[in-house]
Amino acid sequence: MATNGGLGRKLRMGIVGGGQGSFIGRVHVTAAVLDNRAELVAGAFSSDPARAKASAADYAVADERAYGSYQEMFDGERKRPAGDRIDFVSIATPNHMHFPVAQAAVAAGFHVVCDKPLTLTLAEAEQLATLVDASKQVFVVTHNYTGYPLVRQAQEMIRAGELGEIQAVRAEYIQGWLRTRLESEGQKQAAWRTDPARSGAAGCFGDIGTHAYNLGRYMTGLLPERISAHLKIFVPGRPLDDYGHAVVRYQGGALGTVTASQISHGRENDLRIQIDGTLGSLEWHQEEPNKMVVRHNGKPHQLYTRDPNAPFMNESGRAACRLPSGHPEAFFEAFANVYRSGFDAMAQALAGGAVEKVNTVYPNVRDGVEGMFFIEQSVASSKADGAWLSLAHPLARR
Ligand code: NAD
Repeated sequence: MATNGGLGRKLRMGIVGGGQGSFIGRVHVTAAVLDNRAELVAGAFSSDPARAKASAADYAVADERAYGSYQEMFDGERKRPAGDRIDFVSIATPNHMHFPVAQAAVAAGFHVVCDKPLTLTLAEAEQLATLVDASKQVFVVTHNYTGYPLVRQAQEMIRAGELGEIQAVRAEYIQGWLRTRLESEGQKQAAWRTDPARSGAAGCFGDIGTHAYNLGRYMTGLLPERISAHLKIFVPGRPLDDYGHAVVRYQGGALGTVTASQISHGRENDLRIQIDGTLGSLEWHQEEPNKMVVRHNGKPHQLYTRDPNAPFMNESGRAACRLPSGHPEAFFEAFANVYRSGFDAMAQALAGGAVEKVNTVYPNVRDGVEGMFFIEQSVASSKADGAWLSLAHPLARR
């Protein structure tokens, strides 16, 4: 990375969210700086202006660039000389703030890295996609599981036809941390995730079901056609689903299932996917991300390990590795791979090049729209006792 994609300098990052006591903002910053291609120079770290200012010191952000709100940050940064102001904004707030912040960031001319689910509603997501399409900016959505080397390896293997025709996809994301009403005990991550005004139409299905669905879409490239879902609230008093199943019919006849749970005792972040093709099948687990099993009837099971030097690794898998085999790579590195692909595009855009909006390596605003469509159709189908609804969105990546 001598030149940072030809840019010749680090990209300047501003963040919204990530204040003291929060979770994913710190991951965004760590991932963004992992390859020494970006530095955090500004932030609106919290909804509480005092905490926002206090959090800046944790990130070594100068007082003058620790802003009380995202609006202040965009105004303040716009007033700085072009060679000094932020290039991109990372959004790590609860879901209800994604749209207002992203919309303002695009309007102010900044590139955006936004966490999932893209927005609070599908209508907001579609509006955002229209704005992004009409802009010159890069828009990355951190469906970070797409950044794992063996996920990218699997995607390329499937594209190359190594598993034959894909007929079945089983994706599940199983957690247990919301088995009790943590939200009533002042746990703030639980509080907003179970509040429709801040989380959106779905709880569990929006928070982690979207990751599982996105992973299947990313690895197989199958285009969705219809969905039938059953969502449940198992913990009494909770207004949003904490468990659910969906069946997805893909164009061409493949069948998929998505299961998401926040109420399964002892389960941590068990995102796993199994894909069956006419020539072979594969299985990958997020909690053991440096292994993938490929199976063929009548043959010993093949264990793929993340090994950038092995002849079995394809170009996509190898390019996503940082360390030699056996040194575990995981969440931060995968997250950083999503950032790295976004940075290549930002460097190109800043050099005056055209920005690819559809077929990007990183998940983009359209993948975010698909996630919101998945959420809204799952909720609608579940309310109609599992009725089959369309899952074919005109903006779907194809
Ligand atoms: P959190 O509650 O831990 O942190 C949210 C942060 O946003 C806090 O610092 C809060 O003060 C800040 N905030 C809220 N409103 C704000 C505003 N108006 N201006 C500035 N800051 C504001 O939440 P979290 O668990 O980190 O989740 C944040 C987002 O990241 C959610 O959208 C969630 O779905 C997503 N997420 C993604 C992943 C992933 O793996 N990609 C993992 C966890 C969370």
